[in-house]
Amino acid sequence: RTKEEGRNHYQRYEQGMNETTADELSLETELLKAIRRQELEVYYQLQVDIDKRIPFGIEALVRWNHPLKNVLSPAVFLPLAEEMGVIAEIDEWVLNEACRQTKRWHREGFGELIVSVNVSKEFFKRPDFVSRVEQALLRAELDPSYLCLEITEKTAILQVDEIRAKLNQLKQKGVAVSLDDFGTGYSSLSQLRMFPIDTLKIDQSFVRGQGSPENQAIVKLIIAMANSLNVSVICEGIETEEQLSLIRNEGCYKAQGYLFSRPIPADECKGVMERLIRSFT
Ligand code: C2E
Ligand code: MG
Ligand code: MG
Ligand code: MG
Repeated sequence: RTKEEGRNHYQRYEQGMNETTADELSLETELLKAIRRQELEVYYQLQVDIDKRIPFGIEALVRWNHPLKNVLSPAVFLPLAEEMGVIAEIDEWVLNEACRQTKRWHREGFGELIVSVNVSKEFFKRPDFVSRVEQALLRAELDPSYLCLEITEKTAILQVDEIRAKLNQLKQKGVAVSLDDFGTGYSSLSQLRMFPIDTLKIDQSFVRGQGSPENQAIVKLIIAMANSLNVSVICEGIETEEQLSLIRNEGCYKAQGYLFSRPIPADECKGVMERLIRSFT
């Protein structure tokens, strides 16, 4: 083998190892600038009380208005943000934005609306995490009881004592905590026992599509378990009336999904909320 061939082989090997494409590299540099350039935007998706048919809450979901690629989904850029160590910064920005916007909605007549904000493991593990949450609430003049923080099982790999201490501090202040994507992580059950969790969010993968008998059995089980533990439960990914009545029959009273609304920009939410309330009362 010639020297040249050896080098080529090595280069190809390396490329395969870290799987960084040129496209990703440019996205990374642009992501660093995106925060400063104010290209990030918070979209919101309604959470609905199934029996009353009214929105009780709203989830903040970040988007990137990329100057060339239109709107990028968090599934595309959050993994990059995590690698680059800027995901905590993004989370905190979303938190501040969501608290301010929710206060605005309260003033506009939706006085009971609860905002849910996703929190990455990286943000949660910051030593000053709880005080940063407090600061966001104070700045927005939002009562802590209108904020819910969504964590996932990724956060549970942190020290149990650290998680418990922070969750307890949040609880004392009146902030609620939900466990997102419930059912997808193998440690979900033990987390529920160990941590003070207010709400379970059943992952959309269990209700999507036709709903296999296995998935239906899992949904049924999670709802029953949540109810017996006095933990509130929200079903994600509800797209049809059939899916809605299925979970309602099992004792789930809260839903989130395209049936009610997709994630939309803040200025469209008022109209959608009003329409929902009008059409069901
Ligand atoms: P998630 O927190 O589980 O949010 C729900 C996701 O399901 C959203 O995707 C939403 O658009 C989607 N969804 C809701 N209802 C339906 C439905 O009826 N059908 C279908 N097919 N999808 C539905 P999105 O907005 O793309 O967000 C993906 C994930 O990115 C989120 O999942 C969350 O884990 C993460 N994420 C979003 N914003 C933030 C953020 O500010 N910080 C952090 N750390 N993570 C975030
Ligand atoms: Mg979530
Ligand atoms: Mg989820
Ligand atoms: Mg999800």
